[in-house]
Amino acid sequence: MWDVHVHLIPPDVVDAAQKGQFGLQRDGDWIALDDDRVLAGGRMTDLQAVEHYASQHGLSIVLSVPPALLRQGQDPLWASFVNDALISVKRGLTCEVEVLAILPFRDGDATAREWNRVRYTCAGVTVGGSMGESRLSDPRYASLWGALAERGALALVHGGVHSDPRLSAHYLGNLVGYPYEDTVGAADLVFSALPLKYPGLQWCISHGGGAAPFLIGRWQRGYDTRRPGIDTTQPPPKEVYRALWFDSAAHDIRALKFLLEGAPDHVVLGTDYPFPMGTVWHLEENALPAGVLDTLQANSDHLMERVRKG
Ligand SMILES: [Zn+2]
Repeated sequence: MWDVHVHLIPPDVVDAAQKGQFGLQRDGDWIALDDDRVLAGGRMTDLQAVEHYASQHGLSIVLSVPPALLRQGQDPLWASFVNDALISVKRGLTCEVEVLAILPFRDGDATAREWNRVRYTCAGVTVGGSMGESRLSDPRYASLWGALAERGALALVHGGVHSDPRLSAHYLGNLVGYPYEDTVGAADLVFSALPLKYPGLQWCISHGGGAAPFLIGRWQRGYDTRRPGIDTTQPPPKEVYRALWFDSAAHDIRALKFLLEGAPDHVVLGTDYPFPMGTVWHLEENALPAGVLDTLQANSDHLMERVRKG
């Protein structure tokens, strides 16, 4: 069974932090970023731990770096460095693994060049719900999505960066900010119909789709009543929604069941291992209602079969 949402900080990135490269610093078991964020090391940097996790649960894994390392505004050299580090990890692990590249979205040409460089070694990309102030559907990325679709790639939409200072309390940057960004990404995909324009590209929304499963009815209502700014020459939101994939990282069984009701063939196992906010507990015996894990397994395997076939 594939787990499509597993994080790792590759050893080469830890070494770079140790050397103070790329605006990173290592402080004991922590990695400090130049935007004042810090990342815990521990299992996040432990190759043996991730291999043990995979073998313990009989999993194949799709590895991506934690969202704090997306750094979409960084120099393109950063993305190349991280992608080479991920590819090196892939070659060293004994479990079945695919990796998702990051791309330097601030520069359209560099983005295309980097994807072209890694297209045969990476199964797809990790992207934020937006790129700063530009959306996934921004025309400047059209050729990139076309190239990813040609490869049959996976795009994991993973919220992580937000600019709302109110979210600095109560861990809201994660608890609200991540699913908010996932939701913005999903809404943009739905209203731009990007998943239907590039059917070869498989979009998977993290964290159980954020609020998208609860809002799709509202989005459809906005379309049906021709609200301002909605392009009603595009296919209806509910039709586009069916082309999206969602990971299972919802913490409430009722939310997971609701997600599955709306997209029974398109919810895949994604645990967010090894974050404390992950849902590895879904894999414990009887943690999920009967049949749910089997459904996730069938969907995950189906998705990854399509991605690997290209
Ligand atoms: Zn994650």
